[in-house]
Amino acid sequence: MADDKFDSIVVGAGPAGVSAAITMARAGLNVALLERGDYAGAKNVQGAVLYSKMLADVVPEFWKDCPLERAVIEENIWVLTENSGIKAGYKCPDYAREAPANCYTIIRVEFDKWFAKKAEEAGVTFLTGVTINDVIKKNGAVVGVRSTEGDELFADVVIACDGANSILGQKAGLLKREWRSDEIALGVKEILALPREVIQDRFNLEGDQGSTIEMVGDFTKGMLGYAFLYTNRETLAFGLGCALDDFQKSNVKPYELLEDLKKHPLIRPLIAGSKSIEYSAHIIPEGAWNSMPTLFTSGMLLAGDAAQMINPSHREGSNLAMAAGRMAGETVASAKKKGDFSAKTLGLYRKKLEDSFVFRDMEDHKDVEVKVRQNRDMLTVYPRLANEAAHEYFLVDGIPKHDHQRRIIKKVLRERGFVHMLKDVMILRKMIGE
Ligand SMILES: Cc1cc2nc3c(=O)[nH]c(=O)nc-3n(C[C@H](O)[C@H](O)[C@H](O)COP(=O)(O)OP(=O)(O)OC[C@H]3O[C@@H](n4cnc5c(N)ncnc54)[C@H](O)[C@@H]3O)c2cc1C
Repeated sequence: MADDKFDSIVVGAGPAGVSAAITMARAGLNVALLERGDYAGAKNVQGAVLYSKMLADVVPEFWKDCPLERAVIEENIWVLTENSGIKAGYKCPDYAREAPANCYTIIRVEFDKWFAKKAEEAGVTFLTGVTINDVIKKNGAVVGVRSTEGDELFADVVIACDGANSILGQKAGLLKREWRSDEIALGVKEILALPREVIQDRFNLEGDQGSTIEMVGDFTKGMLGYAFLYTNRETLAFGLGCALDDFQKSNVKPYELLEDLKKHPLIRPLIAGSKSIEYSAHIIPEGAWNSMPTLFTSGMLLAGDAAQMINPSHREGSNLAMAAGRMAGETVASAKKKGDFSAKTLGLYRKKLEDSFVFRDMEDHKDVEVKVRQNRDMLTVYPRLANEAAHEYFLVDGIPKHDHQRRIIKKVLRERGFVHMLKDVMILRKMIGE
């Protein structure tokens, strides 16, 4: 790494970092993007559903050459018990009638390589295999970074996009402490190979149409978490994530949960005959709004997972990261015009976030996890009750429908009570963002 000065250094070539780097390079800034992996995407894990709007804001017409898997036209939520499930979903081919679709499934390593190439094409100096472990300060302002090898690189502003465990955020004093285990989820994911036609038949899809399934229920053994099954072209992405403190308390291993879920009668036929070709794990910063660190100081900004920018109840993270990265880049470009990189000037970043969906959504959903943690029955009792009610409703056994309905109501009221249920409905409404 040459000792040199850039207008801006971005650390981390994930969605946040690359978005920031491209935005600044397009504004004419001299930008270095530093990534610890041997190539972009080497270290990254995502489901992965990628949202078009936030990517198009950085790379217009991305769909023309971006390595996309399937255009998502169907989204499902399943509520599972051990041997049954309630399925709710929405399918609309119009989501993908014209490019871009609302969202796409992607393979992160392919996507990240493409995205980093776009940054290089925009003029960004992209260096891989460089791990940054400290910031350099002068008169209280961040003026550069130092690598594990001791190399130093200087810039007017550093944008830290180094992911969920942000060393730079800590070193700059923006993160005052390590994350607690209740602010972090652990996600595991397997890639299961299946022939393209088999995937299309099993998931009722045509061509490059794709679908997603999110699952909640007692397979998490009362832990706060969910599972997912997404269709790629010739693979399925199958994974789950639960709160780290729950894993610690329960002593349950993530891969055991995933193996158990593979045997579920609703999952088994969908993945039958598939070959596991990849297994990965990653942490997710689920403290989100309530754990968000300070976002800027003189000479430095923090974006994406590094700043806990996640909407856990909507499986969104990469879109918040891309939007925040872009806004961080715009802020630095306007600071460059003023020639002022003080915290006061960089505060524009926070203003931009406040005016965007990033802060609005995060604030709206800030208490969902807290409330579910306080009402853990929502993770176990409700999935069971809902499935039992559905079972009763569809059963044709000579007992009059009216009696079946009364049995359902009595059972639900006996187990939950009216007031308790009303409270739970309020939490559910928050979860779906109403
Ligand atoms: C199992 C799982 C499923 C998910 N599914 C979805 C989904 O379907 N949709 C969605 O929108 N989000 C999803 N997310 C969340 C999403 O992956 C993240 O929110 C997103 O990747 C954040 O982007 P980022 O750029 O902030 O961080 P990252 O993507 O983590 O990128 C950080 C980069 O910084 C590099 N880096 C770290 N430290 C250093 C250092 N010291 N020096 C140099 N480089 C460094 C890393 O190697 C990495 O390339 C999922 C997450 C997980 C774990």
